[in-house]
Amino acid sequence: MVLKIVLNPKASLRQGTPLTTDKNWALEDKLFVLNVQDLEAVKRAFTEQGITYQDNSVSSIVAQDPNNNMIVLTTDLNPVSEQQHQQLGGGKLSSQKRKKKIGVLTSGGDASGMNACVRSVVLYGLSKGCDVYAVYEGYQGLVDGGDFIRKMDWRSVTGYLSIGGTSIGTARCMPFKTRDGRLQAAENLIKNGIDSLIVCGGDGSLTGADLFRSEWDGLVGELLKTGRITSEEATVFKHLTIVGLVGSIDNDMSSTDITIGAVTSLHRICEAVDSVDTTALSHSRAFVIEVMGRHCGWLALMAGIATGADFVFIPEQPPKDEDWETAMCTVARQHRELGKRKTIIIVAEGALDRNLKPIKVDHIKDVLSDRLGLDTRVTILGHTQRGGSPCAFDRILGTVQSVAAVDAVLASTPDKPSPMIGMNNNQVTTKPLMDAVKLTHEVANAIESQNFDKALELRDPQFLDELKVFNVTTILHDNSILLPEHQRLRIAILHIGAPAGGMNSATRAAVRYALNRGHTIYGVSNGFSGLVRGCFEKLNAMDVDGWITCGGSYLGTNRAVPGKDVDMGMVACQLQKNNIQALLLVGGFEAYASLVELNKVRREYPSLCIPMSLIPATVSNNVPGTDFSLGCDTSLNVIVSSCDAIVQSAQSSRRRVFVIEVQGGRSGFLAVEGGLAVGACAIYIPEEGINLPRLQGDVEFLKSLYDTDNPQKSEGRVILRTESVSKTYTTEVISKILEDEGGARFDSRTAVLGHIQQGNAPSPLDRIRGSRLATHSVDFFENHTRDVLDQAHSKKQDAPMELCKQDDSIAVIGLCGVEVKASPIQELLPLTDMKNRKPYQDWWHRDRSLVDTLAGRSHSRCTE
Ligand code: ADP
Repeated sequence: MVLKIVLNPKASLRQGTPLTTDKNWALEDKLFVLNVQDLEAVKRAFTEQGITYQDNSVSSIVAQDPNNNMIVLTTDLNPVSEQQHQQLGGGKLSSQKRKKKIGVLTSGGDASGMNACVRSVVLYGLSKGCDVYAVYEGYQGLVDGGDFIRKMDWRSVTGYLSIGGTSIGTARCMPFKTRDGRLQAAENLIKNGIDSLIVCGGDGSLTGADLFRSEWDGLVGELLKTGRITSEEATVFKHLTIVGLVGSIDNDMSSTDITIGAVTSLHRICEAVDSVDTTALSHSRAFVIEVMGRHCGWLALMAGIATGADFVFIPEQPPKDEDWETAMCTVARQHRELGKRKTIIIVAEGALDRNLKPIKVDHIKDVLSDRLGLDTRVTILGHTQRGGSPCAFDRILGTVQSVAAVDAVLASTPDKPSPMIGMNNNQVTTKPLMDAVKLTHEVANAIESQNFDKALELRDPQFLDELKVFNVTTILHDNSILLPEHQRLRIAILHIGAPAGGMNSATRAAVRYALNRGHTIYGVSNGFSGLVRGCFEKLNAMDVDGWITCGGSYLGTNRAVPGKDVDMGMVACQLQKNNIQALLLVGGFEAYASLVELNKVRREYPSLCIPMSLIPATVSNNVPGTDFSLGCDTSLNVIVSSCDAIVQSAQSSRRRVFVIEVQGGRSGFLAVEGGLAVGACAIYIPEEGINLPRLQGDVEFLKSLYDTDNPQKSEGRVILRTESVSKTYTTEVISKILEDEGGARFDSRTAVLGHIQQGNAPSPLDRIRGSRLATHSVDFFENHTRDVLDQAHSKKQDAPMELCKQDDSIAVIGLCGVEVKASPIQELLPLTDMKNRKPYQDWWHRDRSLVDTLAGRSHSRCTE
């Protein structure tokens, strides 16, 4: 929905200066009151348009119009609005007044993140004034009814975020596949007064849900005819609303970029392969590892990229050669000849050859043992892939999608098809459920009819890109992607700023791909300080072997910026001396600032007239031109696991609030997204600052929470504070204030996560993102030099030193949603707040108010 909000521009009651945010706007003596239907949509629109508002209660916000009048926007109806509504033909509001009763169930195979969904449906549903019921044991609970359908309150979902699988249970339910079973389920829903169902499951569960809805009319008719429900019930429950959330570890649903549970599963796989790696290395063994995925190779392919496997087998793209055994052995042998002591082959359980014959792990093992004499072991990861605490990504995904699911319930009308909540390009989307299921089945059909190109095409666009990334970053001996000699470049790569997870992964991919293209690539030690000292080292494919799984920066990194901390002339001189034709930076805001400085003086130095790119890498996620920088996912996962441990401690100590300091510079990204992922009860971010009224409000809020807690079972609570939010209200000061004010209700402690947030091993997402951005960077260099090199070649001349001067040849290579995009620095500069070291607009602000809403802020908890 696109909302253009124009606040009362003509009113002129108050032509004074705007009120500052440290005042409580709701206390102004003149306020305009506007009734709105969807307050969350208004908040989102305000955030998108940069309009400041104060979030005073769950049903109202206060903003200032251009003439500084105070406007209250509220969902609360008053006598005037009700009268108006009726005059406008809206009829009685009785149907609107009837509380929505939402049922939520999890079905099919369990997936980590399902609990985040249940929690979010419950908390957000309650905040919207709905009653929420959990249906235990999936459809079986719906059919059995009784105690399987339970009303939820705020406390029912305490601790859910960190628990893997689903705490309300799931089951495969045969009776629901029959009409009789669904008739019983319909009766149970009606008897519990439930008119809307949010189902989290795979394509089977969602197909069942849609069938249930399409039959609803007939089911209600039959229940009425047989006297199982009254005619009043038949009228009230004339329509059933169904909304689907995709919980599936395979990421096998079309129309969404990612399904809930897939990334956690990838975490488990990568942990297992990383562990197998060390034993493989020690014994010089080969390992054949089977991962889940019957019709979908997403897990296998992503694990292949993230662990640097030698070979992957996936259903959508069987090996090109009929004799794949020989092709695989050739690759494995060549890698061994280069000095590799391990061979890792990852196989999706549904992998097939071109003739649809399954490729089985035991057969691969026999081939490697017999033909290459490798000591080969098989590891089938099986159900370990489902288990464990959800990673940060799945907690956030489950949370934000479920909020959209509740919104979809509230916006549903009988004529609309059942929606499925998806994620496309980092935006939550709503699409017709059955279209997505149909498209999903088409992939399986395409594979069955050996139309592999179509199967790949039907997958999301980034899948193809990721397949390319795997193929081009493995060591190739076949010259299949080698460039003509005159187009080959000398590329330098360096790390700048603080270490971040994925810097090494990106470097490995850049080196491997560049070498496969015929380029020469130099690693520069210690950023620009090393560059000006001439610390260039030629890298070969084996130099970076194993780098994908390692955190920190092997090249060494520091914050020196050319033109500021090191002499620009020396930078140009060293680039010229080493005949560097393309420069790849991996780093955070200092790297961005370096590109800005290089861009300014480029025309003064011929050796700077080369393509330059930046792969954003910083835990703060504050580099313009990308939705996600490398390291921020690793960091969020560290925050999540640390906070889980801290919450446990807080719970054990009873009545304790932890104030946890997270990194982020002037960016609140880690606090906002981390706050969503751990269920923080408050966050302090630099974009908002802290003041006394805010602190006072938080103290009151915490008191109200502890007042309504069960004294025997107090919750552990956390507050996240970005390190640089305030010089006055430090982590220690806030904690002391809370401790004093909390009195007997609660005490407070601090935890400063510090450099732990840079992580140890990079998360799978950071490894994959790094690899993708690196291959696109090399493509970017080629695209900006090809014409000049071709021209020189055709004239039989040497390559000129000035390869390109165009503005678009210095760019950030970033992720816009799931797409990789090169954004020229010239275009990004107007969007950059250089003083605060961040972009003016951050996509993640949209999640800010959710942290408070899900914490139950301003919501009456006395009804529970
Ligand atoms: P997933 O949802 O993970 O794909 P399943 O295919 O096993 O898992 O489906 C889970 C449950 O959804 C089934 O046990 C059944 O109760 C219900 N279901 C699946 N397909 C249908 C269908 N075509 N009609 C009715 N219910 C179905």
